[in-house]
Amino acid sequence: MSNTRFTNWARNQTCTPAAKHLPRSEDELATIVAEAHHERRTVRCVGSGHSFSAAVLTDDVLISLDNMSRILEIDRAERVVRVEAGISLAELVKTLDRFDLALPNLGDIAYQTVAGAISTSTHGTGLHLGGLATQVIAMRLVLATGDIVDIAADDDPALLQSAAVSLGALGVISSVTIQCVDSFNLRAVETPEPLADVLATWTERCESNDHFEFLWIPGTDQALTKSNNRTAGAIEPIGRFAYARDKIGVENVLFGGLSRFSRRFPASIPTLASTITRVAQPNDYSDASWKIFASARWVRFVEMEYAIAFDVLPDVVREIDMMTRRNGHQVLFPVEARAAAADDLALSTAHGRTSAYVAVHMSAGRDYRSYFKDVEAIASTVGGRPHWGKLHFKNADDLAALYPSWSDFAATRDRLDPTRTMSNAYVTRVLGP
Ligand SMILES: Cc1cc2nc3c(=O)[nH]c(=O)nc-3n(C[C@H](O)[C@H](O)[C@H](O)COP(=O)(O)OP(=O)(O)OC[C@H]3O[C@@H](n4cnc5c(N)ncnc54)[C@H](O)[C@@H]3O)c2cc1C
Repeated sequence: MSNTRFTNWARNQTCTPAAKHLPRSEDELATIVAEAHHERRTVRCVGSGHSFSAAVLTDDVLISLDNMSRILEIDRAERVVRVEAGISLAELVKTLDRFDLALPNLGDIAYQTVAGAISTSTHGTGLHLGGLATQVIAMRLVLATGDIVDIAADDDPALLQSAAVSLGALGVISSVTIQCVDSFNLRAVETPEPLADVLATWTERCESNDHFEFLWIPGTDQALTKSNNRTAGAIEPIGRFAYARDKIGVENVLFGGLSRFSRRFPASIPTLASTITRVAQPNDYSDASWKIFASARWVRFVEMEYAIAFDVLPDVVREIDMMTRRNGHQVLFPVEARAAAADDLALSTAHGRTSAYVAVHMSAGRDYRSYFKDVEAIASTVGGRPHWGKLHFKNADDLAALYPSWSDFAATRDRLDPTRTMSNAYVTRVLGP
């Protein structure tokens, strides 16, 4: 047990738990949770602290599964892996690769734990691919009482639909079974293009590429498109020079420097934004899928992301462009647009609808509120659902109306955690008391 202060990756959320535990086994985990419950304390879990929202915060009992991060079983024939829930996605995909297996999709980074990523509906991009939680076929959940529930898609699909994305509000996930795919290579093509052209062809591009996304800085007219497609050809990894120039130099060092400069001199932001847009270079390379999907992130920022219906994305981006210019928001960080398939998980942000994701960012340390609120207002006019792990201003009353299976999740929560042992202020705000 330790009582270290918790600070998330973006350094915008901190707390000092009364106790922090790092169990080494499911039995030890169950004992810790049951004792906390017996003492009428509340329990939260932390993954790798990559949520921007206050999802993890507690001044009571915090549990980290850093010591429960092993691969438990790999069934190569069925392409199924069972892992302890604290394993990072990075560690998982590296190990899977040695067995010629892969996850079908990943987000921009792979620092997250498996449990943390699925619990907030983390996703990548790909019109025909669901978020990470849709790959989960079973899990074990330690309830507040210390009882352990085996949840499997084959036995009780409805329960898994509630438990796969649960913000840690049902219990502590101790292990997860994931359906993988055969390993594959991706060819990545990155191209600076006029935003108007990208928006005009948004649907075709998402349909014709396995994974399509674009980045665009409000106030500029250029976007950077990223199209990743499966390739059976020989791989040609990004050259050392292009990697150093674009992935480290531009995306991290130059961007970090400009971001710090812009905090001191906000009036310089429009010039800096057009400079960044001009230095973006085309790239064409290929590699193992997990090396293409996720990259290094050195520059700290805060983020809000909304899931909206797939086909309204171009209009929403145009609205954000007009609003940003009209309201004079000084923004250096890009808007990121992605797509995902509909799924049936109760609290998945893509529940029941083919979705586009529109994410906005602000340098860490700058006031993000008025910009994010203005973007949220636009997303709300089209029934947008906020990412559970990112910043937003919604509460349970707003959110209940956006999720058709809200009452199913609420009933599961009442059954599995009737005493609300697994809650904190954020969970109470977004899921209700
Ligand atoms: C630089 C950066 C890039 C990102 N890129 C993407 C992206 O591309 N796509 C995307 O969708 N999101 C992205 N995110 C958001 C991120 O994927 C989510 O916030 C994710 O939940 C973080 O995982 P974590 O392991 O850090 O979990 P944490 O942030 O530590 O926790 C997240 C939630 O999971 C719960 N939890 C953790 N472990 C357990 C457990 N064992 N049992 C039950 N509940 C548990 C926590 O209580 C909390 O509610 C990004 C974040 C950052 C900082």
